[in-house]
Amino acid sequence: MKKRVAILGSTGSIGKQALDVVRKNPDHFEIEVLTAYNNIDLLSKQAKEFQPNTVVIANESKYDELVTVLGDLPVKIYAGNNAIAQVVEMETIDIVLTAMVGYSGLLPTINAIKAGKTIALANKETLVVAGEIIQKLAFHHKVSIYPVDSEHSAIFQCLVGEGQNAIEKIILTASGGPFRGKDIEFLKSATKENALKHPNWDMGAKITIDSATMMNKGLEAIEARWLFGLNPNQIEVVVHPQSIIHSAVQFADGSMKAQMGLPDMKLPILYALSFPDRIKTDFPRFSFWDYPELTFEKPDLKSFRNLALAFEAMDKCGNMPCILNAANEIAIEAFLKDKIGFCEMTDIIEQSMQKITYIEHPALDDLINTDKETREFSKSIINKS
Ligand code: MN
Repeated sequence: MKKRVAILGSTGSIGKQALDVVRKNPDHFEIEVLTAYNNIDLLSKQAKEFQPNTVVIANESKYDELVTVLGDLPVKIYAGNNAIAQVVEMETIDIVLTAMVGYSGLLPTINAIKAGKTIALANKETLVVAGEIIQKLAFHHKVSIYPVDSEHSAIFQCLVGEGQNAIEKIILTASGGPFRGKDIEFLKSATKENALKHPNWDMGAKITIDSATMMNKGLEAIEARWLFGLNPNQIEVVVHPQSIIHSAVQFADGSMKAQMGLPDMKLPILYALSFPDRIKTDFPRFSFWDYPELTFEKPDLKSFRNLALAFEAMDKCGNMPCILNAANEIAIEAFLKDKIGFCEMTDIIEQSMQKITYIEHPALDDLINTDKETREFSKSIINKS
């Protein structure tokens, strides 16, 4: 039986790599739904190749053009975020890969869980913003969430076969990004061109900036907390510049398991789609002889304050991670438009965490409001500066 896959965000970095995986494994997977934000050229090309049942373009103004391009292809075409949120409920979908950018992944993921779909989660912001709600919902609907994020896939792989054995702690590895070892003076004048050059991973712009600020590791800590039911003090970050050990788990007896491999997102994507099976691939193999030295460092929380802020948000919990995430998305957008400097991104997040009303036990509506309020507040600081 082929697994029928919906890819939300098929024109992004993860979406394209997921289609690569599907292209190479036509006996295992078929594409049922593709959605994209804006890129109709690529979306229509993908639709022609993979012949999905349905495609959705988030940007409604592109609908007519998409209909024209896809012509008489037997595919249903919809537009708008509501359509994306609804299409995941389709009877014919087995697994939903959530690979859209940022907060936009939240509502479609919730709907997919409510519809009982298995989730391959590539959108960490969903768990950062609403981890507790998502976790309860998944439990209630008996839905599995398989991580696509490489670190979380590593932890997940370490836990296979461990049954109820408790985790003592997890070690999230971080490459350190393009600015590893740099001090705050350097970071103040860091440019977006340099920030966008990640040493090991080929990823989209948002997550690449998150790697440069190390916010990515903070978001991943929060993501891990909800995925694996951990307390914040069970999560440790270790900088490992070669990105070969993708993360590790330490158990009650002191034994530690780690998962290794070359840094290639196709592996965790494939594992999330194929779990519990492992499918044979022709991906390049890791060899110790190519990496005679694997090194490890403590993260520099003084220079990379975003990581410290993320841990603070995780400790405070409630709507604080939602505030952190919204302010971060606005800050990155402004940095990519040259409106603010590299370190000012952190200032905006910090001020938002201080100013936006804290809610200890937010409902989904509270989080939607917090997100909106935080975006408005962060934009107002940026426009003032
Ligand atoms: Mn990651």
